[in-house]
Amino acid sequence: MICRVCDSSRLDPVIDLGSQPWCNHFLRREEVGKEPFYPLRVVHCADCETAQLDFTVPKETMFGDHTYLSGVTRSLSQHFEQMASEVNHRFFTTAEKKTILDIGSNDGTQLKHYQRLGWEVLGVESSRGTTRRALEQGIPTRNVFFNSSMVEDLPKPFQVINAAGVFFHLEELHSVAEGIRRCLASDGVFLVQFLYMQKIVENGAFDQIYHEHLLYYNLTTLERLLSRHGLVCFDAYLAPIHGGSMMAFVQHQGGPHASTGREKAILAEEERKGSNHREWYQRFAGRIAQMKKENRQLLGERKNQGKRIYGMGAPVKGNTLLNYFEIGPDTLDCLVEKNELRRGLFSPGMHIPIRMENEIDYPPDVYYVLAWNFKQEILRNQAELVQKGVEFIFPVDPDRTNP
Ligand SMILES: [Zn+2]
Repeated sequence: MICRVCDSSRLDPVIDLGSQPWCNHFLRREEVGKEPFYPLRVVHCADCETAQLDFTVPKETMFGDHTYLSGVTRSLSQHFEQMASEVNHRFFTTAEKKTILDIGSNDGTQLKHYQRLGWEVLGVESSRGTTRRALEQGIPTRNVFFNSSMVEDLPKPFQVINAAGVFFHLEELHSVAEGIRRCLASDGVFLVQFLYMQKIVENGAFDQIYHEHLLYYNLTTLERLLSRHGLVCFDAYLAPIHGGSMMAFVQHQGGPHASTGREKAILAEEERKGSNHREWYQRFAGRIAQMKKENRQLLGERKNQGKRIYGMGAPVKGNTLLNYFEIGPDTLDCLVEKNELRRGLFSPGMHIPIRMENEIDYPPDVYYVLAWNFKQEILRNQAELVQKGVEFIFPVDPDRTNP
C-alpha cells in the first residue's frame, strides 16, 4: 500500500485494533454471525505524517445505505446552526445571491440552517435513504458520490462549500479535493469540519477509528493535502462537537481572505506537542491497550455484584470500542437507542440487541455510555436516573485530557 495523501511507501503500523466488521451496518437477526470482518489498523506516513487506515472497505458497501442521521441529536443540529450563522455573518454579507454546496449533506440538517438565512443550497449525499429524507424536507440534494468528474453537472461556482466529517472518509481523496477547487468561487470559502486527531488522542477517543474514517488529520497534515490542490487555510478553531472537531476555513491560494492567525497558532501547538510524529501514535496505542484492561475489569466487577448493565446509544464508533474491548451480550443486555432506523437490529461483531429508548420500563443499575461525546446532554436528560442512583460509566471521557 502507498500513502493516500502523498503516495509514499514509507508507512509504519502504529495502532492495531484487530479484525472488525464494518461498524455502520447494524445487523438484522438473520444476518447475525454472517458479517465479514476486515483489518482495522492505523499506519503513519513517514513523509507527509498523515495517520490513515491501511485497508479500505469498498465505498459502495460503506455508504450505500447507512443509518446515521445527523438530525437526531440536538447538540449536532445546534452546532450546524451556529456554523451557518457564523458563515452568514462573516462572509458575503452584501452579496445579492449566496450559494452553498454541502458535500456529504446527510439528511440536510446543515443546509436547512443556511436555507433559513436565505442561502441557495445544494447537497450531495451518497446514501439513498438519507437523500430521500432531505428531499422530503425541501433540501435540494443529489444522490451521488462527489468527485472531480461529477462537478461538471453542478451549477458552480459556489461561494461556500461545506464538508463536515465526510472529507475524511473518501477513497478518491485527490479527486474530491480537485472537485472542490473547481467548484469554489475565486473569493469562495471552503469550510472543512473534521475530527481533530490531536484531540482524539488526548481524549483517548480511539473509538473514532473505524473503517469509514480512512484518514486522521491534524491541521498540519490537512494543510499538506490542500496545498497540493492550490488551497490554503486562513482560519481555524476547535469546536466541542464530537468530542473535538476542527473548523478550518480554506480558500484558493492568493484568495482575498486575510489570515486570522488562529490557524498559525494551532500549527505551532502541533509542532510543540509533536502530535504529527510516529511516537505520539505509538504512545496512544499503549494507552488504548491499558483502557481495554481497565474497562473489562470495571464491568466485570459490576457484573459480579449482580448489576444489570445496558449500553447507552448505539453509535457507529461504539462498535469499534465493543469489538476491541470484546464486550458482548453477556455483559451488556442491550444497547438503548433512539434512532428508529436501528429498531430490532444487533450490533455488528458483538451481536448486542438494540432496544428503543421509549421501550425501557425499568432502568438498569449501570449505563455504559457509548455515545460519550454527548456527555453533558445525556447527564442533563437523565438527571432523574442519576438522582435515583443509576451509575453512568463513560469509557471515554471528553472532559478528561491525558496527553
Ligand atoms: Zn504520506
